[in-house]
Amino acid sequence: MLDFTVPDSVTPIVAWRYWRLGVGDGRLRSLTGRHQPWAPGQALQARCRFDDVDRSDWRYRLVSGFSTEPHPAPAEGCTCGLYAARTLEDLRGQMLFGLSRMVVGQVSLWGKVVPGQHGYRAEFAYPHRLCVFDGSVRRDAGVLDALSAYGVPVEVVGDRQGAFSPVRAVARAFRGLTG
Ligand SMILES: [Zn+2]
Repeated sequence: MLDFTVPDSVTPIVAWRYWRLGVGDGRLRSLTGRHQPWAPGQALQARCRFDDVDRSDWRYRLVSGFSTEPHPAPAEGCTCGLYAARTLEDLRGQMLFGLSRMVVGQVSLWGKVVPGQHGYRAEFAYPHRLCVFDGSVRRDAGVLDALSAYGVPVEVVGDRQGAFSPVRAVARAFRGLTG
């Protein structure tokens, strides 16, 4: 198992986010940014989402959050950075799609971190604790192996209970880990 830790000089912010499980490799992927992969044992560094476009193309000026100057991510006047919600409740306010292949968890954020109303945009991020739904594990037993490569606690929660609330199930699982 990898023993990934954030740099010694840094006290990371721990926040919440969703990932999706990559098909085939079982790696964590962002929901946005062309499903950017998160490599085990390696901090993910933010890049401005406009780095790959021609910034001189005037049409980008119509895009919300666009800035004409290249910059390190996250920048105050841009929308770039690795996103995470402040609390599980804040995360719940975001889109929740089908539970299949979804991972919910805590993420460590460090480097430059821009706070927002419900969360953060960060320069560096690495998973802190992961929670996967048992339906995903039933469908693909390799999921737990793939997730264990990140070297952080992984919880499996049931998605077949009556009146199932994923948020409550995740909160319960994480209370168990803390307590
Ligand atoms: Zn940017």
